[in-house]
Formats: sequence, C-alpha cells, structure tokens
Amino acid sequence: MNTGVNRLNSTFMRYHIETREAQWRFKLPPKFRVKIYNNCVNVQECVQACVYNVHRVGEDGRVAEPVEELCRGCHRCTLSCPKGAICVELNPAFERLGDSYFTPERIENIFFEAETGRVPVSGAGYGGAFSGRGFDSFWFDFSEIVRPTRDGIHGREYISTSVDLGRKPHNLFFDDSGNLVSKVPENIEIPIPIILDAPLSSSSKSNLNLALAKSASILNTFAIVSADDYSDDLSDYGSNLILRIGPNEARKVAGLIKTSPIVELDYADNALDENRITDDLRFVRKVNPAALVSARFLGEDSVTEKSEASVKVGVDMIHLHVEDETVVHDPDVVKRIIRGTHTRLVERGIRDQVSIVFSGGIAEAAHVPKSIILGADAVAIGLAYEIALGCKVCHGSKHEAGCPLKVEEGDVELASQRIVNLVGSWRDQLLEVLGGMGLREVRRLRGELGRAIFFEELEMKIFGDEDDSE
Ligand SMILES: [Zn+2]
Repeated sequence: MNTGVNRLNSTFMRYHIETREAQWRFKLPPKFRVKIYNNCVNVQECVQACVYNVHRVGEDGRVAEPVEELCRGCHRCTLSCPKGAICVELNPAFERLGDSYFTPERIENIFFEAETGRVPVSGAGYGGAFSGRGFDSFWFDFSEIVRPTRDGIHGREYISTSVDLGRKPHNLFFDDSGNLVSKVPENIEIPIPIILDAPLSSSSKSNLNLALAKSASILNTFAIVSADDYSDDLSDYGSNLILRIGPNEARKVAGLIKTSPIVELDYADNALDENRITDDLRFVRKVNPAALVSARFLGEDSVTEKSEASVKVGVDMIHLHVEDETVVHDPDVVKRIIRGTHTRLVERGIRDQVSIVFSGGIAEAAHVPKSIILGADAVAIGLAYEIALGCKVCHGSKHEAGCPLKVEEGDVELASQRIVNLVGSWRDQLLEVLGGMGLREVRRLRGELGRAIFFEELEMKIFGDEDDSE
C-alpha cells in the first residue's frame, strides 16, 4: 500500500507507466465503409496497393471481404482498381458518434489510446481546427524556447510531470534554538497532473469504482469516490482515494474521513457560505489533521468569489468542476473558469496557498497542458475514461439507458488497464509538449499564458477591434 512517505520517495525514481494492449469487447463502428462490387475481376491490384492490409487474398484465391476497421481512407485501392470496383466512403454510423464537442475523431483517439497506450499518429502537421472556442481557441507556442527542445518521451533528460496537491510552503518560522515552529503545510506530490473523477451513475458503478481505484494505485495518483459508494473492496486502495462528501454529510462519515488522505467537500448545489465551509473544514481537521481538504464548486456562477473565500478560511485545494454538457454548448466556459480563478488568487497574493484541480470538457490529451496554461495545477478526467469503456457520451448525472458502457466483475482488470493506457498515452503527449517548449517540469507551465497563442488575440492583431469598424 502506498503511503504519503513512499509517494515522496518515488519522485527520485523515473516515473514510468506500464501500458499494454487491452482490447475491449465493445468496438466502435469503423470510420470507413469499404465495398467491392460484382464487377471485380480479381486482378488483386488493391491487395498490392493497400499498405494497411484492408484488402487480402482469401483461401479461395480471390480478393476477400475488406477489413474495414483497418482502412484509413487513403483511396489507393480505389485508384488502383482497373474496373473501378471499389468504393470507400465515410461510415454514417461513425459520423453519428458523440456530439459537436466529443467528436467522432476524439472518441476514436480515446479508444485507440485506451487500447494501446500509444500516441495516435495524425499524419504530417497539425490536423485540428485553426479557429474555434474553448480549448480549441488557443495553441501551444513552441517558439519561445530559451534552450533547445528536449526529447520528450525518449529523452535522456528526465522531464518531470509531477505536481503538488495542497498548499506550498510559504514562510517558515523558527524559534531561538533553530527549531521549526510553524506547521509545515501539508501537500501531496503526484507524478502526473491527472486524477480520476468519480463516474456517473450506472449499473456498473461499483465495478467501475474498483477499476478506477486500481488504476489510481498503479498510476500513483488519486481517484475520487463519493462517500455513498465506499465499499470494503476499495479499502486496499484507501491511500489513492479522495473521499467526496456532500453537504451535511461530514459528521455521518467521520470513520472514512479518518483514513482518507484527501477529503473533498462538494458544494455543487450551494450558494457561497463561508460559515459552512469553515464549519466543515474544522470538523475534518479535528477528525483527521493530516488530510488535505478540497472544496469542489460546480459551474461558473461566482466561482472566483467562492474560491477566494475558501482559500481564506484555509482549504488546501479547489476543485473547479463544470458539467461536460455545459462545455459542449459553451466551450469558452473552461477559459473563463480556470483563468478567472487563477488570476483572482494571484492578484490576492494567495495562489500558492492552494492547488487548483479542473474538470469538465477534458476530451483529449492536449486539454491537460491547456488547462495548466490557463492556471490549473491538475485536471480530473471523467467522461474521457467512460468513453474508453464504451460510453456513447452521456451527459447529466447518469448514463442513459442503452449506453454500451458496462464493466462486469470479470472486466475490472481490463477496464483498469484501459484507464492506465489512456493516462499513459496522455502523459506521453504531455511530455512531447513540455519537450517542445524546452521545459524540464510541468509545474513551470502553470498560468504561463505566454506559452500559448490565443485566437482572439491573433484576430485582434490582424483585423483590429471589430466594434470600431461599425
Ligand atoms: Zn454513457
């Protein structure tokens, strides 16, 4: 079992995530439909032309049914066929996956990352949009390097992706004989800026919670578990769990608080009430003085005020959460929430008294460093790992009836490996970003807006303020 002490010691070793192939029984529909028509004369040019092995020769010596899952839509086969007998087209079932934000391509990438632990290859150049909203409205700026780039994944130099949860030491006070008198602030270092948020409600929830706890333990990070969902199965993973408790729940779960390294007070449905937070905080501190205490807020409404007030009463962490559905309709909300809160705490000179975790709308690897550039210390992923386990992108508090996400008891190990693979792939992509910027540690990226190019600023620079032209 991991203890806080081991966690610290582990930072002197190279952190490595062990990934391995993890096929899920649920498959995505293939991106392309490949049809061979009856006028095929079996010259097998397509077999020669295809570098992805979509076209093969069957046992009967004739061109076999195409393996659609392998098709990348390069059309070499259609061009090579002298009879024009092959048709490659986008599969409507694939196009219907997800929504405008959790797009079919993002879902396909998550599935690939969870299955292989590898970084998806997008081909030459940047394949994404050149303008957009939210996380899509800014790009990494690799031009501002003060030293050569570092080789991210395979480099000989170690790039640290560790971050601290909790407060940073500020001033230490010593008595006349040189003994430390001020309490050293508690913080816990995790080797990746990613924690696992609690899953939506579903019939698989208890198995999924167990898979998440196992993944968190393998990754040496944390999984958030609601107090209602605690079971004996999870007790082996206690040092990797964040206990989430709802309003007025603290006193009912004192036993769990006592053994939890981090306690998250969920104020999702509550207006700002400093007295409530102070009261809950005192209770948790009394029961477990060593635990870090996190305050979780939902949405954008007065979140900067709530965060500032919480830091002032002494919480160690702020968890800013926004519903994925809100991000789908208003992608810019992520920028306003993270940047707004980070900036407010910096202005008040209290930013280092707390760490900020952000969750909501984290749909691809790049969203992790982008959240950090906006001012978060770490992110919590939720829907991304559920998509990796088959979720068809459900919003709200529970999975829709008919959602293919299902984790049977026998699937727990496999589900856990897929989550580990997903995080492993995202960490490799984070290393590439840090390497490209010449950064030796991810902590240096926090709030570094100069490391990004913002679309609205580019637009302003090129076209000027549109309002002036009216
Ligand atoms: Zn679902």
